[in-house]
Amino acid sequence: MSEAAFREAVHDAVLRWYAVAGRDLPWRHRDATPWGVLVSEVMAQQTPIARIIGPWQAWLARWPTPAALASASPADVILAWDRLGYPRRALGLHRAAKAMVEGHDGQVPSDPADLRALPGVGEYTTAAVSSFAFGNPLVVIDTNVRRVLTRIALGREQAAPSLTAAERALAQEWLPAEPDRANAWNVAAMELGALICTARAPRCEDCPVRDRCRWVAAGRPAYDGPVRKGQGYEGTDRQLRGRILALARAATAPLAPEVLEGLGEPERVARLAEQLCAEGLLVHSRAGYDLPR
Ligand code: SF4
Repeated sequence: MSEAAFREAVHDAVLRWYAVAGRDLPWRHRDATPWGVLVSEVMAQQTPIARIIGPWQAWLARWPTPAALASASPADVILAWDRLGYPRRALGLHRAAKAMVEGHDGQVPSDPADLRALPGVGEYTTAAVSSFAFGNPLVVIDTNVRRVLTRIALGREQAAPSLTAAERALAQEWLPAEPDRANAWNVAAMELGALICTARAPRCEDCPVRDRCRWVAAGRPAYDGPVRKGQGYEGTDRQLRGRILALARAATAPLAPEVLEGLGEPERVARLAEQLCAEGLLVHSRAGYDLPR
């Protein structure tokens, strides 16, 4: 079988599987707006899908358009982001909404270059919104797609820690030429990685391509390449930043320095509080630290 025929056979199997097993997520509905798709992609970047469905619905109910979000205060946006983590994403969406009001008549731009120029919108989000909201089949590469392609096409358990040029080329090669099929493949490959071909415990027995997967055919050899640095949470700056921000969210007045004292070593707490200020997540006045209300 030629490589092109192999790819096509995998596409067929994965697309058939997705048609029955793909999750019914609200931003995948036909009536989802480009704005809804963009919000979902930003929320899903570092947070599991199951945790974002409720917040996404609440966000869209409150701010159904970029213009609605643009008129909110940064504090409201940070409060609504609640505990989704990596709250700079919330401010990025807020800034993107303002940019859309100022430069795109309050609409999510369909031109990939315009999308990429929005605050907080990177290569992945540009491709995902182009493909899923506008039917423009740019190749979408996230960690799930990387893992699925690495296993099926290359016969290796894991991709390298960072995306390589060779992987980009591979993903591009694997994108079907026909636009509708390419858009469907983008979402189906991601879904296969999320539900079946997971990082730690792939369910090969339930996989639609178990008979074609080169990693399985090779006997599922263990990964022996460079390892991604661990991303622990306990005791990290990220955890402490989260605690400071949680206090500010719950407070009805600016946080006096003594309120922060119990959180940890004072110099470290002060450094992280100032870091949050530099990022626009807090403001520091004589009264203390507060959300940017
Ligand atoms: S057979 Fe297993 S490793 Fe291969 S794509 Fe399916 S789940 Fe992943």
